[in-house]
Amino acid sequence: MLSQKTRYAIRAMQHLADHYGKGPVQLADIAEVQKIPPKFLTVILSELARSGLVASQRGKDGGYWLGVPPIDISYGDLIRIMRGSLALVPCASRYAHETCQNCVEEENCRTRALMLQVRDKTAHLLDSINLSDNVEADAYLLAAE
Ligand code: SF4
Repeated sequence: MLSQKTRYAIRAMQHLADHYGKGPVQLADIAEVQKIPPKFLTVILSELARSGLVASQRGKDGGYWLGVPPIDISYGDLIRIMRGSLALVPCASRYAHETCQNCVEEENCRTRALMLQVRDKTAHLLDSINLSDNVEADAYLLAAE
C-alpha cells in the first residue's frame, strides 16, 4: 500500500496541476482543501522542490507551483520520487526490499514471481497516466462497465 506521505504528495500535486499556469498557490490553501497537515505538507513540498517537480517563492505573494508541465509528470514518476513502494509484498519491492520470517528461497518462490509481475504491470499503468489526464473519481466504475 502507498504510504500516507506518498498519498499526500499525489493530492498536493493534483492540486497544483489544477492551478497550473494560474500563479503561485499558498501552502495553507493546499493544506486546507486537501486535508494535509501543514507541517507534513511543508516537508513533502520541499522534497518535491528538490526533485524539480515543484517551484516556490517566499513572501506575501509567494507560494508553490508545478516546476514542470502536468503532462510531463506521470504518476509513476511521482511515486518513485516519493520512494513509494508499488509491491504487494516487501520482497517484491525495489526500494523497500525485505523478506518475511520463514522465507523460502526467493528464487524458488512462486508468490514472489507473481508479485513481481503485479508490481511491474502496476508501474506500467502508473507510468501511462500523467497529472494532466482527467482522472475522475468514478472513472474506474465507468471503465469497468
Ligand atoms: S516466502 Fe516468498 S513471498 Fe515471502 S518473503 Fe520469501 S520470497 Fe517473498
